[in-house]
This record gives sequence, C-alpha cells and structure tokens, in this order.
Amino acid sequence: MTISLNKISFFFIIFFGFILFFNSLSNLDYNKKSVVNNTGKRDFDKQDPNIITSESNKSQTKTLLNENSIDNQLKELKKIVISVKKGQTFSKILDNFKFSENKFEIINAINKEFNLKNLGVNQKIAFFNDENNITKKITLELDYKTILLIDLSTNIKITKKELNTLSSTESKEYLITNSLYADGIANYIPNEILMKLIQLFSFDLDFQRDIKKNTIVSISYEITTVENKNNYYFGDIEYARIEINNNNLEYFKFLTDDGFIDYFNREGKNVKKSILKTPLDGAKISSNFGMRKHPISGFNKMHKGIDFAAPIGTPIYAGGNGIIEFVGNNGGYGKYIRIRHNNDYKTAYAHLSSFKKGISKGVRVNQGEIIGYVGSTGRSTGPHLHYEIIYQNEQINPLKLKLPSGKVLKGTELKKFEKNYKIILANHLNNLFE
Ligand SMILES: [Zn+2]
Repeated sequence: MTISLNKISFFFIIFFGFILFFNSLSNLDYNKKSVVNNTGKRDFDKQDPNIITSESNKSQTKTLLNENSIDNQLKELKKIVISVKKGQTFSKILDNFKFSENKFEIINAINKEFNLKNLGVNQKIAFFNDENNITKKITLELDYKTILLIDLSTNIKITKKELNTLSSTESKEYLITNSLYADGIANYIPNEILMKLIQLFSFDLDFQRDIKKNTIVSISYEITTVENKNNYYFGDIEYARIEINNNNLEYFKFLTDDGFIDYFNREGKNVKKSILKTPLDGAKISSNFGMRKHPISGFNKMHKGIDFAAPIGTPIYAGGNGIIEFVGNNGGYGKYIRIRHNNDYKTAYAHLSSFKKGISKGVRVNQGEIIGYVGSTGRSTGPHLHYEIIYQNEQINPLKLKLPSGKVLKGTELKKFEKNYKIILANHLNNLFE
C-alpha cells in the first residue's frame, strides 16, 4: 500500500488545525466560566463613562490573558496567596516566610510606595518562593487593577504595575415571572447591578405593587476583566428599560456638564423626580402646615397639609408620577384623591369639586397630569385645595420637603445627550440581537 507524501502532509495539517482550534476553544470557555462566581467592586474609576466599548472585543480578551502575564514570569517559583485578616500586620504576615533580606528593610522599602498601615482586611498578597522556600517575590494587590511588585531576587526592587483591563458592555433582557430580583439572578445578572436597577427605578416604581407578571426588563451594564484574574468587575448601568402594560420607563447613563453621572430618559429628563410643592397654577397659600385653631371646630389642631386658595374648577395636577390609591368621598376631606408615588411617598388632595374623567383607583398618573378640580366639599370654609405630602405614612410639611430636583437637559448638553443615548441604544440592541 502506498500513500503519497502529499496525503500525509495534508492529514497532518488537518490534525494540527484541530488541535489549535480546540486549544483556543477551551481558552474562551475558561473566560466564560467565571461569570457565575464573580465578585464585583463598586469603586470604578473610568476615563470617560460616556464611551461605550461593545462586546465585539472578545478576541482581545484572549491575548490579554496570555501577554504580560506576571505569573508567567514567575512560574518557576511556588506561589502562595494570602488574604489579610482583621488585626493582622504586614510584619506578622512576613514572619510566616523566609527571606534573604532583612524583614524591616523590606517593610521600609514598601512603605515608600504604599503605606502598610493602610493594609485592608481581605487585601491579597502573593508570595513566590524558590525551591529552598526563600521568598523571591511578593505582589501586593492595591486595588482591582493595580499591584505592587516587590522583587527580592538581587536586592529590593519595587514597581507599581497597572494591570491591563478590558471593558465591555453586557446586555440582558428578561420577562418577570416571579420578581425583578429573582428573575434577574436567574438570568445571570449580578446582584450589585440588580441593586442599582432597583435604586434607579425607585422614583417611578413601587416594587411590591407595580411589578406584574410579564413585565419586561432590558438592561446594559459595564463589565471589566482584568489580566490574570478570573473575576469580573461590574460598573455602571448604561441603559435600563422596564415595560409594564405597554408603559415604557427607560433611562440612559450620561455624564452631565457639571461632571455628574446621572440617568435621563429620551427627552433628557432626569430620573430623580421631585414632588411638586404647588400642584396647581396661580394659587396662594391660605393656611400653612402646623398648629392652628381649626376654622370650623374652633379647637387647636395640627394642620397636616397646606391650603391653597383658588377658584372653583382650577385644575389640580398630580404632584409626581404614581398610582391612584384612593379616589372618592373621604369624610371631612370631601372629594379626595391620594396618589402613591413609591415605597416612601404619597400625596393627597382634598375638598375637590370633581375628579378628572378616567381617574380611578389603580390608574397610573404622571407628574403634572390633571387629576381633578378645586372645590369646597367636606369640612371646608371656602374654595381651596388642601394638599398633603405623606412620607412613610405620615404627613410632612411640603415646604420643607428636600427631594432632589429633577434636572432637565437643554441646549448643547441635550444635543450631546441625544447623540450619546443613540449609541447606547444601538449598542444595547446589537448586543441582544447580534
Ligand atoms: Zn387644609
């Protein structure tokens, strides 16, 4: 039997091709696995948070893990990693190892670069020992992407090294069947990102009541890998959308001109919503919050709201986004509406002449939307609106309310934002459906 040389070399090319292919496959697989047992850190410092890197950098991740690897340079040495315990000093830690140099000389040298008094609990220190168990190198993790390299091979040499990082955006979309949190975890969204998501929507949603089955959650967030580490570090949410019964709540991350990272909807309105202190136009305060002699009973009583004198029929606006919790006759309050804004805040409106058509229990209203009209129903001496802001089920003085003011982007800043959100959105959709 004769096989030509060409056939043999052809076979070898195929065979080695396969080996190379599987080798790179297992490398990629290795990168993916650690997604599940990640530990995130919040202390991200970013050059420009508005610049988005997409998931298409996958091929770079591989080279990043192979090049400049400190472990590779030190692989003849035995590596022992320790985690600093509470009350443990660096000097105490060094007592467990052997050195050719004087321990205090090492400590003094490190202290010039990093004050060892600031050594934190759980900070990682790696010791690299030779075959005689003499420590030749130490690496000290300063933050998630910086290490201090202490070379003891000849004399003490200390270098600070920034590890290569690779940031990209991860996008997920899911349907709520149980809860926003539980379904998020089931969809491998990290805990810290879910906490940020809940906080982001806390001005719009009451998570116990508003979230219904089949609510859609769509989200993009920053994910960073650091060379030589299996952990992923999570940054900011870049995009988030919650869709309940065709009602779309959507926010984009943006770095404002005054240097704050904040979230805005497509119209450039800030996520943080203040509650209106005056929920009607052209009204005068006729009675303030506080103790007063009741105009009808004559007794001294706490007045738990603010009265605005206004003609009958003056439109009343919803003080904030929320859900109508009560609408109807309510004793001395007369015709009354109460809106639930979130877990903490409600507003109430009393003595109305009538309710706006369509305002009923469970209806969602937006800030500034007309809900009813000024009247004099219930225990009232004349046409006025009695307005209450309720914080954790207790009336508070609306004039002393300290809520963040909802910034609205304008002019060139709005233009910049619009350009930016389109990139974020394109990136989000591309990640989801590529
Ligand atoms: Zn009143």
